[in-house]
Amino acid sequence: MGQVILQSDLASLTKAELHVHLEGTVRPSTMEEFLGRSALPVSRVYSNLAGFVEVYGSAWAMMTKPGDYARMVREYCEDAMRAGIRYAEMHITTGARPFPCLMEAVEAASKERDIVMRFIVDVPRTFPIEVGFALLEGANGVPDVVGIGLGGAERGYPPEPFTPLFDEARSRGLRSMPHAGEDAGPESIRGALDALKAERIMHGVRAVDDPQLLAELSERKIPLAVCPTSNVMLGVATSLEEHPLRELWDAGITVSVNTDDPGYFGCDLVGEYAIAGRLLNLDREGYGRLALNSVESSFAPEGLKNKMRGDIADWIRRQ
Ligand SMILES: [Zn+2]
Repeated sequence: MGQVILQSDLASLTKAELHVHLEGTVRPSTMEEFLGRSALPVSRVYSNLAGFVEVYGSAWAMMTKPGDYARMVREYCEDAMRAGIRYAEMHITTGARPFPCLMEAVEAASKERDIVMRFIVDVPRTFPIEVGFALLEGANGVPDVVGIGLGGAERGYPPEPFTPLFDEARSRGLRSMPHAGEDAGPESIRGALDALKAERIMHGVRAVDDPQLLAELSERKIPLAVCPTSNVMLGVATSLEEHPLRELWDAGITVSVNTDDPGYFGCDLVGEYAIAGRLLNLDREGYGRLALNSVESSFAPEGLKNKMRGDIADWIRRQ
């Protein structure tokens, strides 16, 4: 049975966040400032992934001043610390900036003492593959970049054409972590596994439509980085109660919960844990397992993983 855990207690549980976009973490007040740079009014209305990507892209286009990326990193870290996040793998969509925004983000992250951040080069799947290669090149030799992602409106943009890009990224030591199975079905997850050799899937919730795929994800221990609030906001699930988190959890898949774009969805990671707690009837040990899933799904340095495992075990024992 589920157990009542106070918000402050849940916030003190050590966690990793594995599915969050830097440009989507922007605080509402910071966003207003960025949008104020636009000569034209920017729409903030969306009801699905395609509409969201459009709104997101308009705001993204305003993040053009030196200091913007460092500020977003700092503000994310402040918010993340309050949610118990000690390690984050963060998507970043660089390029088309008059300053080296990736290096700025990496440098800002390196100054944080209590949270370790790594980055994932996020390639928009609606853009030609050449854009992806340019983004990959821009991250060449940056040790804090650990992965390559594929994001954006998924329907009509299958993963297979990005095979050469992901092959090249993997040959450079980057981990494959595409979005799949969000607004497209199991075939997109299948493509991410077979063509892109995905080691972690962002979302992947539509795997529940294919029992065989569900079993394979569980057997091969391919983690899913799920974002319940995001899924409801973008119509991937009709309500939190209808969210397939329970089916994924019961299938034995290593599921973590994450915020995706907390600046847009008004969510935080403690809230996502509370939602998972409700949907999965978690007791103290269950919350601990969910947090442990986030650590095991990550590519954090082994020493940090061990420290986090220890902190989670301590939290479970505490009452
Ligand atoms: Zn995402």
